[in-house]
Amino acid sequence: MEFFRKQKNKDKKQNLRIISLGGWGKVTQNLFVYQYQDEILVVDCGVGFPDEESPEGDLLVADVDYLVKNQNKIQAIVITHGHEDHYGGLPFVLPKLNRQIPIYAPRLAAALIREKLDEYRQQAKINLIDSRQKVDLGNFHLDFIHMTHSIPDTFSLAIKTPVGTILHISDFKFDWTPVTGSISDVGKLATIGSQGVVCLLSDCLRSEKDGYTLSESMIEDSLEREIRNCQGKVFITTISSNVSRWQQALNVSVKYRRQVALVGRSIEKIFKIATRLGYLKIPKGILVPTKKINGLPKQEISLFVAGSQAQKGSALERITAGEFREIQIEPGDKVIFSSPDYIPGTQLAIHKLIDELSRLGATVSYSDILDDLHVSGHAAQGELSLMISLTRPNFLVPIGGAFRQMRQYAILAQKMGYFEEQIILPDRNDTLEITAAGQVKLGPRISRKTHLVKSKSRKRRKYRRK
Ligand SMILES: [Zn+2]
Repeated sequence: MEFFRKQKNKDKKQNLRIISLGGWGKVTQNLFVYQYQDEILVVDCGVGFPDEESPEGDLLVADVDYLVKNQNKIQAIVITHGHEDHYGGLPFVLPKLNRQIPIYAPRLAAALIREKLDEYRQQAKINLIDSRQKVDLGNFHLDFIHMTHSIPDTFSLAIKTPVGTILHISDFKFDWTPVTGSISDVGKLATIGSQGVVCLLSDCLRSEKDGYTLSESMIEDSLEREIRNCQGKVFITTISSNVSRWQQALNVSVKYRRQVALVGRSIEKIFKIATRLGYLKIPKGILVPTKKINGLPKQEISLFVAGSQAQKGSALERITAGEFREIQIEPGDKVIFSSPDYIPGTQLAIHKLIDELSRLGATVSYSDILDDLHVSGHAAQGELSLMISLTRPNFLVPIGGAFRQMRQYAILAQKMGYFEEQIILPDRNDTLEITAAGQVKLGPRISRKTHLVKSKSRKRRKYRRK
């Protein structure tokens, strides 16, 4: 009798649970756990970034005790793209696990992960994500969907499970004229949508903005306008991983006969990796070492500089403080911030840096005075609606945004005809349950902490103080 009861339970479909170990209602620290029976799939393993109160070099890492306790259940860790808030937690999480967990990542992210693990003297075997290939991991059957974002090689996941198909759409935008790589695979999204989607977890960071996020490719014209008439050195800064932005800055520098010097470890790293993998095309002879720039006329120099968020110890901050012997900011030079200014906690530092650059006599182009120097990598309302229309899920869960952005996403979905009960807004330590009958509801709360850790790459960063 006991045997038959157990057998019956085994056959019965159970609920699938989704846990956000980084916490729901957060932009960074993406770390999602999908659990069905005794199998776990981890999607992304990111860090959070410090605000101005945090000491330099600190990172936020999710509490992964749950993964440590259940490590034998983990089928794989899947990384969606090469942003640190999606993969940067790996060097802190992997050493806590006693066995090699298979990691899946796109080609560019895989190279960045290897480089990052190397800084921590770690290694891992990484399986490359290929959109033509499906991966079966126990009860999880994965299909990868190529998406556009602010870094090439970004993927979303269709996770087929015994309780239905779940779409995990991490950071994305619909860029129909991307600078690098192909457009988002809308055909695949529509096909998966037509087969039935129980729940869509969608990026909601720009749900407050109506319309459509502009294409990355419009930036080249803006950069050209800024560089065309500059008689001095041009400094360009952006988020270091934004390969397409650098490609456009390179194109414009070539056009105006400027040699390019790379300043900052993060930029050197992304240039090395993206060039090797073919995401960045560097014209022959355009790069020049920083120690050689003083032999060139000022109007023939472009400097691509790390530190667009005015991070302490970054190349731009040190140049501004006069700590680079070869590179000075002089009257006539131009500094272009082709970067977002809305990353929480960074605005004050950016403004202070712009003050200092202005004192040194540079012309500074930044987002408060020009709105065409940066475009977001995230979908605005028009694209979020398009995603919902293509995939037609029964339930919606906004992710990758603050709670207010989750709320705006819910309002948008309601305008499209969704009922309030179909839009789930988990907060902080909530969990989600998807029942065998395909209902999505909030599950029991978990206890979850966040750990502050020291970033090794920043500690080890060596700039010459002269
Ligand atoms: Zn991202």
